[in-house]
Amino acid sequence: MPRYEFRCRACGHTFELTRPMAQADAPATCPAGHDDTVKLLSTVAVTGGASAKAPAGGGGGGCCGGGCCG
Ligand SMILES: [Zn+2]
Repeated sequence: MPRYEFRCRACGHTFELTRPMAQADAPATCPAGHDDTVKLLSTVAVTGGASAKAPAGGGGGGCCGGGCCG
C-alpha cells in the first residue's frame, strides 16, 4: 500500500499515512487534529530493495578496446 506524506499547515507537523490509492487525495487529518493539511509526496514502499549494481569483473587488459583490434 502506498504511503503518503502530509504536512499540517496549522502546526507544521509532517506525518505519513498509509492508505489505498483510491483515497490518495482524500483529506488527511493531522495527528493533532487539524484538518488543514497538504499532501507533500507519495513514497511507495518497496520491498526487496534495489540491488547495487557492481561493475562486471573480468576482462581488462585485453586487446579489444585498446585500439589494436581495428
Ligand atoms: Zn496540525
